[in-house]
Amino acid sequence: MAINYKKCPNCGSTNVLGILYGMPTHEAFLKAEAGEIKLGGCCITGSDPEYYCKDCEHEWNKQQAIDYEYNQMWRLL
Ligand SMILES: [Zn+2]
Repeated sequence: MAINYKKCPNCGSTNVLGILYGMPTHEAFLKAEAGEIKLGGCCITGSDPEYYCKDCEHEWNKQQAIDYEYNQMWRLL
């Protein structure tokens, strides 16, 4: 099963950015300025969101995307 991580589990939008952690490089900074990625700061706790929805500001990670897809699948049965 293909899972599209970059689809908002909250509103279904694909207007989604990847969140980058750590000290941003100059290139990353420019991308963030251009709205291509989102900077998540340098503190990583292990359960930080990896994606950010530009439409509803929801944030999630891969595990949450998988949980969401499985829930959707069960709902269809
Ligand atoms: Zn959304």
